[in-house]
Amino acid sequence: MPQIKAAVCRAFGQPLQIETVTLAAPQMGEVEVTLRACAICHSDISYIDGGWGGTLPAVYGHEAAGHVSAVGEGVRGISIGDGVVVTLIRSCGTCPSCAGGKPVSCESDMASGPLTAADGGPLHQAMHTGGFAERVVVNQSQIVKLPEGIGMEAASLLACGVITGVGAVVNAAGLRAGQDVVVIGAGGVGLNAIQGARIAGARRIVAVDMSEEKLAIARDFGATDGVLATTEKPWRAAKQAMGRGADAVFVTVGATPAYEQAPQYLANGGKVIMVGMPHSGAMASYEPVMMAATGQGMVGSKMGDVVIARDIPWMVDLYAQGRLKLDELISGRWTLEQINDAIADTKTGSAKRNVIVFD
Ligand SMILES: [Zn+2]
Ligand SMILES: [Zn+2]
Repeated sequence: MPQIKAAVCRAFGQPLQIETVTLAAPQMGEVEVTLRACAICHSDISYIDGGWGGTLPAVYGHEAAGHVSAVGEGVRGISIGDGVVVTLIRSCGTCPSCAGGKPVSCESDMASGPLTAADGGPLHQAMHTGGFAERVVVNQSQIVKLPEGIGMEAASLLACGVITGVGAVVNAAGLRAGQDVVVIGAGGVGLNAIQGARIAGARRIVAVDMSEEKLAIARDFGATDGVLATTEKPWRAAKQAMGRGADAVFVTVGATPAYEQAPQYLANGGKVIMVGMPHSGAMASYEPVMMAATGQGMVGSKMGDVVIARDIPWMVDLYAQGRLKLDELISGRWTLEQINDAIADTKTGSAKRNVIVFD
């Protein structure tokens, strides 16, 4: 069985350790991918910081792309050498959620454990991926084949941040052309909600963020207006820009004040799309009578409610046409050995993605 280098989390809140671990060969329906790139997502950091609990020791990382290096029995349509995106969305295809078109909510327990620590002890493959490692073994349902020529760093972003943001707009909100949108948070996911709204034909796209610098980047991705979250009652400025309330407000940050304020931006009949994930136990409150009397709603959106085999090839094509920005989302490239520095840089709140690059 191959020995690979992986960044292992042994204690919450502590630096990851680069260790040599064992990766089992792909079993029935599984694929081994030799990674070329794995981006760092705020979800990885929430886990590493202990915000959501979970099993340790663990290998995080779930926003990956690479080349297929081995296939298990029963795998169809994927061959050794194929370039692929690796997502955390593992789905059985037959449970009520999968059959109903929502594989991100798959109800089957499809846990597997391809990793073993150097001392022979258990090592958890976090989020069905374990992408902070030279190779991964995942279920074939998590993989989407890429066309020739697409860069692996750009492709890795399609595994989480891009599908989460764009998918929240087209799938969760079902946005129609001409509708008005507010996006709270112009970070990795927020920028993708903004470009998703642009692609979907939104009329006004108002970015709300704490930083002028991020509002400027938001404009590059399609925001028509920017409002500083630090201004008093920022929804007033947003409504002034739109001339009305928003049909959809996307909360792309995990801060509870953003969730508390989100309904204030809505037009009658509008919806808050809940994308950002606060730490477990965080609470927010809202005024039910307002929601009831105005026909407003709140809806949670996990991983952009994507169907990866449908949505990722669509986004790859938009990228090839120049209509979806990917390269512009990358702020830094790091080696696996530099991962703790890359995580520290991500925590400074920079708008974009740091990517671990493997040679
Ligand atoms: Zn993620
Ligand atoms: Zn399922």
